[in-house]
Amino acid sequence: MILGVVAVAAATLTVNAPVVAAWWYAQRFDLDADRLPATDPFVEGDRVLVVSPHPDDEALCCGGAIQLAHEAGAEVWIVHVTSGDGFELDALVVEATLRPRGAALIALGHTRMREALAAAAILGVAEERVLFLGFPDRGLRDVYRLHMDTDTPYRSPFTLRSQVVYESALEPGTPFTGAHLLRSMRDVFDRVHPTVVLAPTPLDGHPDHRTVGELVLRVLGERGELGAGRWWIVHGDAQWPLPKGVHMRSPLFPPLRARHLPWTRLDLEHRHVEVKLASIRAHDSQVRLLRRYLESFAKRNELFSPLPLAPPR
Ligand SMILES: [Zn+2]
Repeated sequence: MILGVVAVAAATLTVNAPVVAAWWYAQRFDLDADRLPATDPFVEGDRVLVVSPHPDDEALCCGGAIQLAHEAGAEVWIVHVTSGDGFELDALVVEATLRPRGAALIALGHTRMREALAAAAILGVAEERVLFLGFPDRGLRDVYRLHMDTDTPYRSPFTLRSQVVYESALEPGTPFTGAHLLRSMRDVFDRVHPTVVLAPTPLDGHPDHRTVGELVLRVLGERGELGAGRWWIVHGDAQWPLPKGVHMRSPLFPPLRARHLPWTRLDLEHRHVEVKLASIRAHDSQVRLLRRYLESFAKRNELFSPLPLAPPR
């Protein structure tokens, strides 16, 4: 437990650290957002589904895109696959619990779902269009890979539960198996009928994000709608995005980890970036720990790839 907290604290320091200058990183690896083509615009009648592994990803990846979609006359839904109930250091700070397990982490999950609704309201997404699946934070890979062809559900080492515990989730009581996760995601698609899906690329650095990317890819493939996917990344490299902190007029360039994706650039006006920043800050439990990292996503563009993975080179 102590080691775990030390590890999370070290990771927290790393992602907030102001040590590496953005220009150095960009020059070194020849990264340039301005050379990228523009993202296809949203159009009236679009039904946009933002697939968010944890509460805060929707604001980080897509806080600007959501505003532009609304302005174009589209409808926007957000689905949070987990409720962010696996962040021990967070529970330690926010819920003031020394050994965060079980109830303290479920309480954190409730806090993060409330924050997600506040962030959505700032972005103009009504509460009834924010869906929660309630699957386990930091457990999606095991749920999807190890508990797919079995009736034995995954047990979260954080909440100590094996099924969805949140009453406000789409399907409370759903066991943590891969088949149920897949079914829940199919249900979301059947409910929303999205024409555009904003989802994490399976190249993202976080295992939950990668798993959500694979899951969305599978459901889109089943529906014959792979063209609806626009793929984003939040966990790039340890020092991405740069510069850290509030730099709303700086560009967001692709991280090294996914530099071979065919990225497009969604330009935001300054007013969009300000609203995006406010939506990020609505995730108060996260901002208390990771402020400079989270704020660094409020830049003058967002990045989306029409392909989830890099084409052969
Ligand atoms: Zn996340």
